[in-house]
Amino acid sequence: MSRLLIVGSVAFDDLELPSGDFKNVWGGSASYAALAASLFAPIDLCAVIGEDFPEEHLATMKAHGVDVTGVERAKGRSFRWAGRYDATLASRVTLDTQLNVFADFRPKIPAAGRSAPFVLLGNIHPALQYEVLEQTTKPKLVIADTMNFWIDGERAALMKLLPRVDVLVINEEEARQLGQHHNVSRAAAAIRAMGPKYLVVKRGEYGALLYDDGAPFFAPAYPLEDVVDPTGAGDSFAGGFVGYLTRVDGQGGQIDRAALRRAIVAGSVLGSFCVEDVGPQRLVTLRGDHVRDRLLAFKQLVHVEHELDALTLLR
Ligand code: AMP
Repeated sequence: MSRLLIVGSVAFDDLELPSGDFKNVWGGSASYAALAASLFAPIDLCAVIGEDFPEEHLATMKAHGVDVTGVERAKGRSFRWAGRYDATLASRVTLDTQLNVFADFRPKIPAAGRSAPFVLLGNIHPALQYEVLEQTTKPKLVIADTMNFWIDGERAALMKLLPRVDVLVINEEEARQLGQHHNVSRAAAAIRAMGPKYLVVKRGEYGALLYDDGAPFFAPAYPLEDVVDPTGAGDSFAGGFVGYLTRVDGQGGQIDRAALRRAIVAGSVLGSFCVEDVGPQRLVTLRGDHVRDRLLAFKQLVHVEHELDALTLLR
């Protein structure tokens, strides 16, 4: 069975949501991505936690088929992030980022993870993402996420990383910032010239775009009545996306354009579950049959009953 190596933050978040304030919520890019991807494939996780991080969350990940051998416990406090959402949950501001144990972290990938054919470089310092790649043995596909914090502050390190990334997954604002163009398609072309063959642009509740050499592909986000907490939706999207591809590969399937398009749908479905509860709670209770049902609902969402043939319909 194909394995997936995930590196990223494992954190505590303080969240200010319209539904209330939540402190010390289990979070981090790698936590969300690993829980989401674990629905599809076995995971090797590489991250660092502080003395304050409870065993209970590691046990939860293990129960989901996540190998936590590569999670190092260091002296000090875990990574901390705080964010405030507006009343519509459509935008948020970062109130605080404390690297803590991440400041001195040197990733050490355990043997199983080094040879994993799929690698997800979750959102952490781009120099650390690069160090992880240096320890791997020729992965088939490298997916990376990043954010404004690093695009602003560590552009040079990011530029060094990008030629080694196959699929970059970022949100729309970050694409504009990195590609230095307001028009997302032009920004996408600029970013693909920096290295990644594929670019996925996440548009939150408005879905996601996939750019490659051909025409772009778009999939909507699944429309939900109750959205509680968008934190980690992007990481869950990335986890679902690459988890699905790992599964396809494990079953002998091709990782081609069509598979990448289906992976976008898998990512959207995992992202849609993540936002239904505070922190990663919904992902913890998520089962394969829930994912299957929503995938079917998603197919209905984008299905058109009869062929839309402009040639015969136009007068
Ligand atoms: P998302 O909502 O998908 O952007 O992911 C939010 C998660 O990313 C939170 O759980 C944070 O702990 C984590 N996070 C926020 N900022 C950073 C950063 N600069 N580096 C690594 N992880 C971060």
